[in-house]
Amino acid sequence: MNKKLTEIRNLLMEHHDWFQKSIPLIASENITSPAVDEACASDFSHRYAEGWSGQRVYAGCKYIDQIEDICMDLTKEYFKCIHADVRPVSGVVANLAMYNAFTSDNNGKMCCMAIVRGGHISHGPRFAKSGNEIFGTAGTTRGINVEYLAFDNDEMNLDIDGSAKIIREFEPELVLFGGSVFLFPHPVKELSEVAKEVGANVGYDGAHVAGLIGSGYFQDPLREGADVMTMSTHKTLPGPQHGILVSNREDLIETLKACAFPALLSNHHLHNVAGLAIALAEMLEFGKDYHKKVIENAQALGQALSDIGIKVLMEHKNFTESHQIVVDITDFEKTIGLGGDIEKLLEEANIILNRNLLPYDIAQGRHYQNPGGLRIGTSEITRLGMGKSEMVDIAEFFKKLLVEMNDPKKIKNEVIEFRKDFQEIKYCFQSPSKAYEYLKFY
Ligand SMILES: *Cc1c(COP(=O)(O)O)cnc(C)c1O
Repeated sequence: MNKKLTEIRNLLMEHHDWFQKSIPLIASENITSPAVDEACASDFSHRYAEGWSGQRVYAGCKYIDQIEDICMDLTKEYFKCIHADVRPVSGVVANLAMYNAFTSDNNGKMCCMAIVRGGHISHGPRFAKSGNEIFGTAGTTRGINVEYLAFDNDEMNLDIDGSAKIIREFEPELVLFGGSVFLFPHPVKELSEVAKEVGANVGYDGAHVAGLIGSGYFQDPLREGADVMTMSTHKTLPGPQHGILVSNREDLIETLKACAFPALLSNHHLHNVAGLAIALAEMLEFGKDYHKKVIENAQALGQALSDIGIKVLMEHKNFTESHQIVVDITDFEKTIGLGGDIEKLLEEANIILNRNLLPYDIAQGRHYQNPGGLRIGTSEITRLGMGKSEMVDIAEFFKKLLVEMNDPKKIKNEVIEFRKDFQEIKYCFQSPSKAYEYLKFY
């Protein structure tokens, strides 16, 4: 076999092996079912289909169109809406389409949550008034002026009165809710009314919480005032990496379509559209159970960590109403270090999560590279079948590593042993075919 091929295949196999022996806690990740994997490995990955289903610019789309129609129908059913664009190739691309639709070409104006409070890098404008080099450059295709909404650190949520004042003074074209650190539903209802007063449209970036919303938990942005909701399809919604934009505004449908294609899309990763359709069908069937469990596990993990003396934010509100919790690890600064150091230590023990800025980190002089917090998500471990008692086991690993400072190599063996009982994906259809068996991770 070719040397490079061998090398690449071996690395992929090592990666699979490692993740099968790990506790995956990254809040923005999840795993797809074998049936979804099979669709994603199909011939659709070789094809082009520009434009809207039924009005393609390419030949050969007979079956592609039928599957994309099914994908749009399932999206509308899951999110209870009249318009679904399943072409954006990622959540960021869906956001860009929304910015195209709602902000002016020059000097557009948007209000959103600050990145250091949990806003996403794609909310970072190119010429940010309150941004900086790192947080201000990624994202928009043109210069949108951004003013950040007011945030209440004690509630880990947008501050309604402060944000209302900012919206009235700044008079944005778009008010955007949602973010990457997202513990509690945003006050969409209250602030949408203020947005409408100044003539702004309302967007909701549901990248993280899309699955929770579709399954009927968290909040219901389209009925609370959002004109458009964008999302990634691979976080709490356990589909392949892709994006969706949905709306209930009949009058906006043509604008929204045109703002995505041809502006931001050519080929739109048709294999992932097929995989997404299957993931949506799975969530229409299993999502109610699955996402309820995801949230319960997040709260249980918050409690279990708190019980062993690790500081978890928002204990007075049961830690979270989503799939995430945020941990303050500044107590370990002298013994182990900050977020970056702890992330590394946990990784050595096969516990995979990411460091995260706490809302008060910058004010206290900490840097995003080595912040005072960790963000932990329960989407993936729940899909692997873990429940409340496993949350206690996981907290115990944290205690051994951070409090008792055991050798991570020793704890790694315990993690591998623990993970042996969780090797199957739950809340999904059984794969009907063995055609792509060799691609399966589980
Ligand atoms: C993850 C995320 C996105 C987009 O991610 P993609 O990788 O482009 O799908 C957008 N917004 C928020 C709030 C996110 O957390």
